[in-house]
Amino acid sequence: MSYTDEQIYAVDKADYLPVFARYQIVLDHGDGVNVYDTAGKKYIDFLGGIAVNVLGHGNKELVKAIADQAARMIHVSNLYYTEAQATAAEKLVKLSGLDRAFFANSGAEANEGAIKLARKYTHQKDAEKSTIITAWHSFHGRTLATLTATAQPKYQEGFGPLPAAFDYVTYGDLAELESKMNDKVSAVMLETIQGEGGVYVPSAEYLKGVRALCDKYGALLIFDEIQCGIGRTGSFFAYDGFGVKPDIVTLAKGLAGGVPIGAVITTEEVASALHPGDHGTTFGGNPLACAAANVVLDTVSAPDFLKNVAKLGDYFTGQLKKLAAKYPGLIKEVRGKGLMLGAELTRDDIGRDIVNDVLANGAIINCTAGNVLRFVPPLIITEADIDAVLACVDKALAKFA
Ligand SMILES: *Cc1c(COP(=O)(O)O)cnc(C)c1O
Repeated sequence: MSYTDEQIYAVDKADYLPVFARYQIVLDHGDGVNVYDTAGKKYIDFLGGIAVNVLGHGNKELVKAIADQAARMIHVSNLYYTEAQATAAEKLVKLSGLDRAFFANSGAEANEGAIKLARKYTHQKDAEKSTIITAWHSFHGRTLATLTATAQPKYQEGFGPLPAAFDYVTYGDLAELESKMNDKVSAVMLETIQGEGGVYVPSAEYLKGVRALCDKYGALLIFDEIQCGIGRTGSFFAYDGFGVKPDIVTLAKGLAGGVPIGAVITTEEVASALHPGDHGTTFGGNPLACAAANVVLDTVSAPDFLKNVAKLGDYFTGQLKKLAAKYPGLIKEVRGKGLMLGAELTRDDIGRDIVNDVLANGAIINCTAGNVLRFVPPLIITEADIDAVLACVDKALAKFA
């Protein structure tokens, strides 16, 4: 490495477009659940690139699949078939119980595709059946349409005019959704479990009610599983755990273990609205990304792997609740499912300081929605890793108690 940390900070400050409030650390490499800075200091990574590094860092099988595929062929146009893409689609169809998969490069792009697909489908019945209903505190991405779907004013301000025909409801409030449903609604789009907005788990009754309302009004149900999918909650799709099936589901983050990818999966009926030329992508689902996704899909969908995620999630939740009981003045509530957990702080002004203290103590977590400590670690962690990270959090909380 030819730049010192100080030089990297200076160059970044001078030359990178500063849309991230970065932590003062230069990460250099990773191994399993750990990452290391340039001085060789170890951090247990319980953010996992924000729910991306599901197999941790440096997974041998994943690295080999990427290296082998890179040597054979990194990219080829979607005008041609590749085995890697066909098999990744086959796996997603099998796992989802849906019929067709399309690959994009990111979460936002997958959701953008889902919105386009829903509108094209419902416009066949009624040219004005366009409305997309999403939930307050949702997060669906940063493109103009997905930003409009993201019902958080702080992300939308200054970027107007925003695309038309989006409406918002309170997550979990079925009566409010019912009051907004009509025959102009194209789709209801929800995170099966809300992530960025603060880690909110809905009831199965709510999601079943949403499904029934969509059916009643001929609207599609889109589940955004970009964060909560890929085994994170102990089932491959989070919706499996609620017994509710969507018409469209989107994936991204963990799908290729860190290689950029997104996916839209849907039914034959809905997919029939799109014909050659109606949608596309240059990079989406190229053989490099799909070779990585194939390893992740094979690994994470194994029943024993998923069972272990659920078991770790139960242990983690229990330990986190003990910490909440130790600091009732600081932690208001523990929420989440599997290895997607949040601890809501009682104060809005200490989240970043706690995350910084935890970092100094040797672990990486983050704070979302202003006051929710979020844990979305690699799915390969152990109970000992959970204990070690919570010891770092404990130490940080003690400072503010
Ligand atoms: C991260 C996220 C997105 C956006 O994904 P990008 O790859 O950043 O575009 C969309 N939806 C959910 C639920 C997410 O967590």
